[in-house]
This record gives sequence, C-alpha cells and structure tokens, in this order.
Amino acid sequence: MNVRYDTLYIGGAWIAPHTDRTITPVNASTEESLGQVPEGAEADIDTAVAAARRAFDEPAGWAHWEPGRRAEVMERLAVAMEKRADGFVERVSSQNGMPATVARQLEAGFPTAILRYYAQLARELQDCETRPALLGGSVEVRKNPVGVVAAIAPWNFPQTLTMLKIAPAMAAGCTLVIKPSPETVLDAFLLAEAAEEAEVPAGVINIVPAGREVGAYLVAHPGVDKVAFTGSTAAGRSIAEVCGRLLRPVTLELGGKSAAIVLDDADLDLAKIGQDLFGATLINNGQTCFLGTRVLAPSNRYAEVVDVFTALAQSLTIGDALSESTQIGPLATARQRERVESYIAKGRAEGGRVTTGGGRPAQLDRGWFVQPTVFADVDNSATIAQEEIFGPVLSVIPYTDIDDAVRIANDSAYGLGGTVWTSDPDRGAAVARRVQTGTIGINHYLPDPVAPFGGVKASGLGREFGPEGLAGYLQTQSIYL
Ligand code: NAD
Repeated sequence: MNVRYDTLYIGGAWIAPHTDRTITPVNASTEESLGQVPEGAEADIDTAVAAARRAFDEPAGWAHWEPGRRAEVMERLAVAMEKRADGFVERVSSQNGMPATVARQLEAGFPTAILRYYAQLARELQDCETRPALLGGSVEVRKNPVGVVAAIAPWNFPQTLTMLKIAPAMAAGCTLVIKPSPETVLDAFLLAEAAEEAEVPAGVINIVPAGREVGAYLVAHPGVDKVAFTGSTAAGRSIAEVCGRLLRPVTLELGGKSAAIVLDDADLDLAKIGQDLFGATLINNGQTCFLGTRVLAPSNRYAEVVDVFTALAQSLTIGDALSESTQIGPLATARQRERVESYIAKGRAEGGRVTTGGGRPAQLDRGWFVQPTVFADVDNSATIAQEEIFGPVLSVIPYTDIDDAVRIANDSAYGLGGTVWTSDPDRGAAVARRVQTGTIGINHYLPDPVAPFGGVKASGLGREFGPEGLAGYLQTQSIYL
C-alpha cells in the first residue's frame, strides 16, 4: 500500500496545509512505509476551528436543523463508510496491527452501527419541552448542542473511538474538529472522503492529523466548547487540568487494568469459552483499554486457571495483521513493543513466573510482534498488576474467597472493564455489582451501542454509548415564558 494525500479535509473542502510537515505511517507487520499525509500544525487547527465555528454559529445552520434532518446526513455517512469497509480494514490493520478479522467487525462494521444508532436517537430526541411553572406562567426547557467539539482519539481503535464522538455530536447538532493519532492517519482520510461523498455540510466534520502538542493546542483553543478525549490517563490528566481552568466540559475515556474474576464454579472448557475469554482478555493484541489483564483465580483452582490461560495463549495464531488466520498481530509501534517488553522484564524481576511467551515469536523477523505472555505467581501489588501494559500480557493472581477477590479487583487505580466467569450468572452478577468499574460482563465482555461505556477512578470521566453518550453533547436552557 502506498497512500498519499497532500491536503487536509477542513470546512468541507480539501485544502493545502499551512506547513510542509508530513506523517509517514508505517506497516506494523512489515515495518514498511504505507504512504504519506500532511501533518497538521497549529495554524491548521485555527482554520479547522474557524470552519467548525462558522458551521455551528450560522443562524439557520446545522445546530438549528430538525434532528431528523441531521439523522439523514448521518445515515448517508454510514452508507458512504460501508462502501469503504475493505479500505478501513486494510488501512487500520496495516497501521496498528489489529487482526483484519477484528478490524472488519470493530473498525468497519461497528462505527456505522454507532452512526445509525445515534441517527435513531436524533430522530427520537425531545429537544424542547414546556412545563407549567410553579410560580406562574410556564418554562420552555431546551436541549441545545454544546457547540464546537474537539475530538481526540488514540490509535488502538481509531475509527470506533472517533465515531463515538462524531455520532452523538452530530445527533446533538454539534460540529467537530477531529485530531487523529499520528500512528493511524490513513483511515481518517478515508473517513474524510466518506464525509465528502455523504455531503455532510461544510464545517461539521474537520480532520487535522497531528501529534500531542497540536492536540494540546486544540484542547485549549478559544473557539472550542467541549473536549472529547480517548487515550492514556497521563494525557487525560493534563487535558482535564486545562479544561478545569477553562471551565470547559470534557469527556475522558482513559486507561484500564481490569479484573477477570474466575469464580470457583466456572466452566473453563476452552472449546466452549475460548472465544469469549480471548475477547475479554487479549483482543487486538492486548491493545484494548477494557481488557481483563488481571486474572483473579480461586486458590483451590489456581493451577487449573493458569493452565487454561497458558493453553489459550499458546493456541493463538500469530502473524501479519492482514492475514485472515491471524489472531494476534504485531503491536502498533516499535515504541509500544519496547514498553511491553520492559513490563515483561519487570514482571520477571519482581518474581512473576512466565508460563508461556515472554519474548518475540522466532518465526517472524519483521514487525513489532510479542508473544502472548502469561505470568503466574503474581501479587496484585506487582508493577505488572498495577500498571497498564497495553500488550498481550496477562497476570494470574490468586484469591482466597469472594471478599478477597472483590478486594483485589478494587485494589487498582483504574476502573474501566472487567468480567466474572461462573456457571451461575446470578452469582456472577452479585459479584459484578461489588466491583468498582464502569462496565463489567458475565462470561463475556461485549460493549454495545445502547450500554453506557466509560470508567471510574483513573479510567475517566463521563460516558460514551447510549443516550448517556448523547447527553454529553447537549446543554439545558430554561426560557421563562
Ligand atoms: P495517548 O494519550 O498518548 O494519545 C491519545 C491521543 O491523544 C493521540 O491522538 C495523541 O496525539 C493525543 N494527545 C496526547 N497527549 C495530548 C495532550 N496533552 N493534549 C491533547 N492531545 C493529546 O494514548 P495512546 O498511547 O495513543 O493510546 C493508548 C491509551 O488509550 C491507553 O492508555 C488506553 O487504555 C487508552 N484507551 C482508552 C479507551 C477508553 O475508552 N477508555 C479506549 C482506547 C484506548
């Protein structure tokens, strides 16, 4: 693949960037260049914010359209994206190493499902209600769009995580400046082409790929009304500080270190649960924020649980992200692999026992691959149990009874995902309710458009998905009549 773009999609047109800086995305499986695109600069952000501002502030513009009319545009965008489904799969998988089978579902299929879901919510939106006032007269209570949204996404699920901002923002009547991560820019240009074909009104979607300094400039830009961020907790903290100072609404979807709690009655037959276990603990090469990377195992079945996860890791096919048989692709960047390898070294140094993996696959001499790795004999206070690794590395931690399992699950700075594995779903749900986390699944983990998603503690603020996700793009106004 050799994809080149020389212009940026801003204000409904393809315009020349302000500088000649470029981004060269690289194939994570082969380490070869995938092409070249312009890197946005602060002046491009100025242009994009001005375009988004104009589109939002127009007296009869996007913000004032009937929500149903906005829904029609959103559905056209879904159709234009579906036409490009293969392109999204190829570009995302090549750039970040996501296995193509995963990308087909989660990066091509899911974003359009999210768009259609929010288009439907737009149609049902009650954006104006009149109430009789207690003290005389009446009150018109309006739900107005918050304004221009700065949408910043990471590289691990670039399309879905961007769409989780675009879809509710469009449904609400907001306009957006999107800053994709430099590691995953090519799919963002495909999204821009789809927006153009779908005749999304000029200025509603503007896309400026760039690094973190330009991202920080966007966050603090005086023309922005709200920030929607997905990424690391460290970046989230600094964005929250800026938004706090500016009193600017912000949604933060950050890191995680979730618990997969195996109860003593769990059926651990891999033939039955292997697929769900993989989805909840290792999907996308471990580069997924909600994964249950701390496996909590009852002491009386500890060895068996270690064996099951070891067998799961050993059963996975490692290879080029574009190959249909690949279950574990490479990590997204060389830097990411170094980070994961340094955690594996730390895990060993702190007394963890590697039962499988722990190195690079011998048969692959190119690409940023790391073997799926399982650590046994890990204490929850170990670095690999406390910090987010963001690679295919699991720690199996023993517990004595349910109270101990819940205590360990909650002994974390994070609270994003999690699972409970049991043959008694009611018992599983009772345990799940005690875990301090934004989302948790019983015997599987599957984010759904209707289910609010987000974290507690250092995993973030606010929710995406569901009507709750739309509420974050609306603000309430009372008019005393
Ligand atoms: P990152 O925080 O380094 O970067 C994410 C995005 O933010 C990139 O576009 C980057 O350019 C930009 N950015 C970084 N610092 C910024 C700043 N100060 N101001 C403005 N923009 C800034 O994260 P990453 O390494 O790209 O992604 C991995 C992280 O994302 C992991 O911690 C993962 O858990 C998290 N994540 C969270 C969710 C969720 O929904 N909670 C989903 C996926 C990934």
